Amino acid sequence: MEVSRPASVTAAPAKLIVENVSKRFASSRAAVQALDNVSLTITEGEFVCLIGPSGCGKSTLLDIMAGLTMPDSGQVLADGKLVQGPGRQRLVMFQESALFPWLDVFGNVMFGLKLRPDLTRSERKDIADHFLKLVGLEKFKHSHVHELSGGMKQRVALARALAPDPQVLLMDEPFAALDALTRDQLYDDIQRIWMESRKTIVFVTHNVREAVCLGDRIVLMSPSPGRIRQIFDIPLPRPRDINSPELAGHASKIATALKGTVTEAFTE
Ligand code: ADP
Ligand code: MG
Repeated sequence: MEVSRPASVTAAPAKLIVENVSKRFASSRAAVQALDNVSLTITEGEFVCLIGPSGCGKSTLLDIMAGLTMPDSGQVLADGKLVQGPGRQRLVMFQESALFPWLDVFGNVMFGLKLRPDLTRSERKDIADHFLKLVGLEKFKHSHVHELSGGMKQRVALARALAPDPQVLLMDEPFAALDALTRDQLYDDIQRIWMESRKTIVFVTHNVREAVCLGDRIVLMSPSPGRIRQIFDIPLPRPRDINSPELAGHASKIATALKGTVTEAFTE
């Protein structure tokens, strides 16, 4: 069932347009159609979750949106302009925080700000402080990466991605390696940050509840070949509690659809 979108979302302009994107990976042993004619429009300020079983092309689609991978055919437009490579308006955050171990927490966030040569060093320092505070790590400014827990590392990675003020944040299973308690706290934080900053966020996950907790829309993908199977609107008010019964209702419907894509992949 299609649920109408809030007027604030439908009225917003398109931020990212994915048009008929296909991508095939071939090696000497095998070839896989990672994406087959995928089209999707994401509006400004929207929070979209990509969900689907392992290997259905979620990361490939995210990388193509980022400009890190080029499609074989089709295209991605960001603000109406063809994406031909990575840009500072679309930053990616991965499952592994990919922090620099030789820099402290502050140094890692300052590194992200190299993307802003228009700012003075003192402006960059102020911005780094602001984002470390936003993710609750101001007291750990001078800690080394190896001293941090997994959740803290992802907070630093989030601060590093937000600091250059990208319009679009592309997140690839950023919380997948964390324990449930740390994740719950990060759901609250990412919702607060999104509501304050109104960034456009594309968030890859294979966790249905996580998707329902965060997304305005959930794009369900199916594998072999990677395609968009179904799109779900989640009109729940925010901030959302991942353990709420309303959320569970949406999650069970989507979990059933997700299971369908997995069963098919094994029977085809
Ligand atoms: P997901 O993120 O949904 O798990 P991916 O986008 O990583 O899926 O992968 C989709 C398919 O493409 C998988 O079958 C994967 O093995 C394949 N694939 C992804 N990247 C490469 C690559 N660089 N070389 C070869 N095959 C790849
Ligand atoms: Mg992936």
